Amino acid sequence: MAKLKILKVGDETLRKVCRPVDKITPRILTLLDDMIDTMRAADGVGLAAPQVGVLRRVVVIETPDEGLFELINPKIIAYSGEQESEEGCLSVPGRWGITKRPMHVTVRAMNRKGETVDYTGSELLAKAFCHELDHLDGKLYIDIAEMIDN
Ligand code: ZN
Repeated sequence: MAKLKILKVGDETLRKVCRPVDKITPRILTLLDDMIDTMRAADGVGLAAPQVGVLRRVVVIETPDEGLFELINPKIIAYSGEQESEEGCLSVPGRWGITKRPMHVTVRAMNRKGETVDYTGSELLAKAFCHELDHLDGKLYIDIAEMIDN
């Protein structure tokens, strides 16, 4: 396991669309492990592979209430409601903004065993699903947020 360098806003890698994972290889498992280490060391709620320079559709999320999620090729399959709340990003250090996100989100993804799994989250977890999945398409929350830090 290793801690990886987190790319910062301005790096073009963060604006690229990531490719799906077609096979779970030892390399993908190591990437997941390293991303978890990196997210925890940075005290983050989520991390997407492009943030560590890997253009693959891989996300990790960990919340105090729901625990750890490892998402490979995740897709939002349902959402409802709305929430307006504060959001930040490990690639945009020291900045905060207010975003509008769905209140409830269901994602379908592959886990590290290659099984299809569905997860439904509300509030913080719903927001994290949206935020991290946006990273896989080169989108950052600052594109849609009303910044509150300047
Ligand atoms: Zn982010």
